Formats: sequence, structure tokens, C-alpha cells
Amino acid sequence: MKTALVYLLMTSMSAIAAPVAIVIHGGAGNEQRPPAAEEKQRHATLERALRAGHELLLRGGSAIDAVEAAIVVLEDSPLFNAGKGAVFTSEGKNELDASIMEGRTRGAGAVGNVTTVKNPIRAARAVMERSPHVLLVGRGAEEFARRNGIEIVAPDYFRTEERWRELQEWKAKQTPGKPQSANPAAQEHLGTVGCVALDQNGTLAAGTSTGGMTGKQPGRLGDSPLIGAGTYADNRACGISCTGHGEFFIRNVVAFDIAARMRYQNQPLADAARVVVQEVLRPAGGRGGIIGIDREANIVVEFNTAAMARGSIDRHGKLSTATLGR
Ligand code: ASP
Repeated sequence: MKTALVYLLMTSMSAIAAPVAIVIHGGAGNEQRPPAAEEKQRHATLERALRAGHELLLRGGSAIDAVEAAIVVLEDSPLFNAGKGAVFTSEGKNELDASIMEGRTRGAGAVGNVTTVKNPIRAARAVMERSPHVLLVGRGAEEFARRNGIEIVAPDYFRTEERWRELQEWKAKQTPGKPQSANPAAQEHLGTVGCVALDQNGTLAAGTSTGGMTGKQPGRLGDSPLIGAGTYADNRACGISCTGHGEFFIRNVVAFDIAARMRYQNQPLADAARVVVQEVLRPAGGRGGIIGIDREANIVVEFNTAAMARGSIDRHGKLSTATLGR
């Protein structure tokens, strides 16, 4: 009874206060129909991540806190390609990337190629708040995370048998003599995670975390740790988190392009997102999708793959999750 009253109070207060909203993704890719039990778990995990972020927003917490909280839930789940459950490099290692950005100050932080940081999104945030830099990679990033009290684990913490099997399947499809990772269309499991949130102060934040792509060359960075490519937030426009074939997202500076179209051409978020994903990326062969929120709390999800795992809680408190196509 008491809890119901508190919740009622919180939601009615949030109706008076500036609107809050949150959107997450769990990667874009082929339409897979996993066993019903796994599918149920996927929805439940997306919902848990959304609620973790949304509760903070309702209490007046910051967008950056909400993004971190939601992404940690997804990183800790073996069902997604981030943190535990990350995909393997061609050498059978897990190399993780993450980035985060705040739209008021346009502060940003990122880590790339880390192998021992349990929650790379936390390390990305520490880079933003506790270093003069934006992007740290490899050993330096791990050392920085450790010094800043971020949980360190043994590299085999990230391993799951499912992703290992996917690496073996990927290897079987490779043609000797051809460069590795040259066949992204063979990627079954994308599964990167991301979140965008709008807080009561009207601040947007965005974050993305990934294990990259199965069979990637050691040392390869995708778009996920790159501000402007995989993640971007600017209170004057929107927050964006991307997922898909990273090389295309880097070359097309996707997250920034959507924000730039809003700022310079006054395009609404939904139009800018559609143009970039369907008319810029798709013809170039770039498969993937994006999530975003603008300062009016409009939410967008746009993808050119068969499926994308996603979920949101809008300004009215309406929650939805989906894992397949439209
Ligand atoms: N964009 C990620 C990368 O290229 C992969 C993904 O989103 O699935 O590393």
C-alpha cells in the first residue's frame, strides 16, 4: 500500500516536473528466434535495465547515472555482447569497448580494448570525470580503472560457451588467404548494448558498451568507444547510441550526423535518424541501428537489420520491450 502510494506520488510528481525518458538497445542483427525461455529472459533483462535507469530519473537522478545503471545490468547479463557474454576476437579473447557522453557539458569518456574491467561503462565514465582525457585503451585503460576503484576480473570472467561456439562457426566460414573479419554478413549475434536518457533537468546522456564483432582482429576498435560515431549527446539536439557494423558507423560518423542534421537543418529526431540509417548507411552496406531521445523526450528507434533488441519507458511512464523486427 505504502509502496503503491510512493510510486503514485513519484509518477504524478514526474508528470508535473520536466519529463524523463529512457531508451535502450541490445544490438541489431539477423532475426533470431531463440528458445522461448531465452526470449523471455531477454525481455526480462531489458525491462530490468530500463527500470534501473528510470527509477533514478524519477527520483531526480542525472541522465548519466541512469545510462550507467541501465548499461551495467546489460553488461552483467550473458545474453548480450557486452561485459559478460562478449564475443571473441579471432585469437579467442574478449576485448571490450565502451563510451559515455553527457549532453549539457558535452563531457565524454571511453575505453577500448580492455580485457579485465568487469563493467567497461563504469571505466568510461571514470575517464570522463576523473581524467583530462576522452579515450583510454588497453593496458593504460585497465590500470586507470584499477586505480579508480573499478572492479577488475580475470579475463575468463567474460567467457560464455555460446559465444565460443559462435567463434568456431565464424572460423569455419573463413576463406584462407582472405583478410579476417571481411565477412560481417556472416555475423549472427550482434548484441551490443546502449542507453540514452533524459533527466528532469533536461540533460541528455548516451552510452554504448560492446565486445565488438566475432572474429575481429586483436586490437580492432569499432564505433562503440568512439564519440560521434557510436555515441553522442548534445542538449541542443539529442542523445544517440548505435549498434551495427562499426566500420560503417565510424566512416559515416553516425551519431554525430544525426545530431548535426537536427542542429543545422532543424530536422526532427525521427527524420534525421531515418535518413542516416536508411538513406546513408543502408545503400553503403552499413547494417545496424540507433536509439535516441531529443530534449522534448521524443524517443526514436531506427534500424535497417531484420531485428533489433530494444526497450523504452516514455515520458508517460509507458514501458515496452521488443527483440525482433518491427
Ligand atoms: N558496433 C559494434 C562494433 O562494431 C558491434 C555491434 O554493435 O554489434 O564493434
